[in-house]
Amino acid sequence: AQPQAHCHEPVVTLAGVSFSYEGKQVIRDLNFNVLQRDFVGLAGSNGAGKTTLLRIIVGLLKPEQGEVRLFGEPYSSFRGWNRIGYVPQKNAFNPLFPATVREVVLSGLYGRNKLFKRLTAADTRKCEDALEIMNIADLADRRIGQLSGGQQQRAFLARALINNAELLILDEPTAGIDAETQEGFFELIRHMHQHHAITFLMVSHDIDMLEDYMGGGPEQVCGKLKFYVRHTHEPQNCSETRLHVSGGTKREKIEVRG
Ligand code: ADP
Repeated sequence: AQPQAHCHEPVVTLAGVSFSYEGKQVIRDLNFNVLQRDFVGLAGSNGAGKTTLLRIIVGLLKPEQGEVRLFGEPYSSFRGWNRIGYVPQKNAFNPLFPATVREVVLSGLYGRNKLFKRLTAADTRKCEDALEIMNIADLADRRIGQLSGGQQQRAFLARALINNAELLILDEPTAGIDAETQEGFFELIRHMHQHHAITFLMVSHDIDMLEDYMGGGPEQVCGKLKFYVRHTHEPQNCSETRLHVSGGTKREKIEVRG
């Protein structure tokens, strides 16, 4: 057997996870691994449970059964929240929310206890670079709530970028954004994936984008959930290099491609 060093670490692991809303089961005995630097796209019809799944992973919902591990740590002892950037579907900021785009981006630099830490010149530089990369430098002094949904998404990506987030979890980042802006956004995401070594878990209804970037259809289909994967390493001799999805949303049979 090859040494384990060739294998990428699992960044997100779900083991036997089930979840119900008021007795209605949405996620059923779901298992999967997202490996370091892979890009996992998650698609599926409305109500398939995609948002629920992301909310379980980031700890906003507690599974009724099973275990979530983040960077190999059980959820209960995980402390590395700064390693994860989560961009929810709707950033419905009140237009008067008293923070500028620059402040939101800079907040990525602070742990909870360092909120009033003094900014270094390097911090400021990093922030301006991120604003530039995300093409929102001209919006830096506007209130976050006055930006369009797409511009807010860019601000959150800039925040994740200066925070050196290792895992980005995005929920329909381009919902309600025009096609041209969408293309630009996906370009940024691909750039972040390829040049900043970030692991992605992204829900998207944009099958064309997913198929284009992953080089084909879903790697695994699980109930109503479709998992697309772009691996960064050849899955040779590594038991973990596969997504290993099982379980799902309903009692449907699990189909596995390849
Ligand atoms: P998706 O993101 O794939 O569209 P969701 O995860 O939002 O799906 O929803 C999955 C199912 O759970 C749907 O049937 C939805 O109606 C239901 N659901 C979602 N949120 C709640 C909630 N807060 N309370 C009760 N049911 C919910």
